[in-house]
Amino acid sequence: TEYIAVNELANLMGVSVSEVISKCISLGLMVSINQRLDVETITLIADDFGFEIELVEEFQTDVDADIPDPEETLKPRPPVVTIMGHVDHGKTSLLDFIRSANVVAGEAGGITQHIGAYKVSIDGGKEITFLDTPGHEAFTAMRARGAKVTDIVVLIVAADDAVMPQTVEAINHAQAANVPIIVAINKIDKPNSNIEKIKQQLAERNILVEDWGGKYQCVEVSAKLGKNVDLLLEKILLEAELLDLKANPDRKARGTIIESQLDKGRGITATVLVQKGTLKIGDPFIAGVTHGRVRAMFDERGKKVSEAPPSTPVLVLGFESAPQAGDTFVAVESEREAREISIKRLQVKREQDHRQVHHITLDEIANQI
Ligand code: GDP
Ligand code: MG
Repeated sequence: TEYIAVNELANLMGVSVSEVISKCISLGLMVSINQRLDVETITLIADDFGFEIELVEEFQTDVDADIPDPEETLKPRPPVVTIMGHVDHGKTSLLDFIRSANVVAGEAGGITQHIGAYKVSIDGGKEITFLDTPGHEAFTAMRARGAKVTDIVVLIVAADDAVMPQTVEAINHAQAANVPIIVAINKIDKPNSNIEKIKQQLAERNILVEDWGGKYQCVEVSAKLGKNVDLLLEKILLEAELLDLKANPDRKARGTIIESQLDKGRGITATVLVQKGTLKIGDPFIAGVTHGRVRAMFDERGKKVSEAPPSTPVLVLGFESAPQAGDTFVAVESEREAREISIKRLQVKREQDHRQVHHITLDEIANQI
């Protein structure tokens, strides 16, 4: 990488440009006034003029850069799991069973609203967060934006069917995102199910399950009857333990927009998956190019919550405009800061959009010629 130019360096040191140029020549470098210099050359020249070079990272705040928290602040957090697989292989059935089987006593009625994610408590107090995004589009959108939301993928394959295109797509997604896969072979209650055939076909895709000598955990389930679903949850927790998932809960929240909804009564709402920190009522925030202040939060049961720790999905009220799935959500110190960043991001976006429009126009002209 090249940094400042010869004349800029001369200005910074308060010496003449010709002095810097002749210094460069003595180092065997023929340079022009506007030529940019690499850090090695800059250091050598500066040293000669009695200056020390200090490399400073480009100004980055926690809003733009996901700056890691110090090790000692990290505490265990629940895994975030996405169930993926071919259409009709049983994603919804499996999610529904897990959801209804793990509703805390006294909370009968279960999930009252779809918010795209929910957290369940397993016996023993352990928790798992499931993302319930429609199809693979949301997952793809998030990955395209570099948002990593899933810790583990459960790959569901129907035992009465076969490894299908979307099964392969799911494998590719998970592997590209470097997310571990747990295989769930579903519909084993069906008389025409063929578990070995599925394992064979998975092996052909380099997904070798444990009892075939591979590294992939595999559970044979019936989402319809709920058979072995508890075993699947155990395996998820085991995988999560290996991943040693941690986050700092004692800081301003940072997370990802899972989906946004326009509610007739409440206006713009969005599901935020909090990934680090704790989101609180009243927190100003920035989400993509929009911003706001947390006016209220609800869990998947429609119950009001005042705090959302890491790996918790919450429905948030208080957005100025609708965010997009995959947008980064960052709680900030003040509403003013949120507004300023939002305006800046909007300007950048407009410029980019403008350039794209311009680009298309040029192409069109080229086509006409
Ligand atoms: P999705 O498209 O992956 O969400 O699949 P669904 O959960 O909608 O399931 C597709 C169909 O398979 C539905 O008719 C389910 O009732 C059925 N199904 C799902 N799991 C099982 C199972 O374990 N056994 C049987 N027999 N049917 C199942
Ligand atoms: Mg479905």
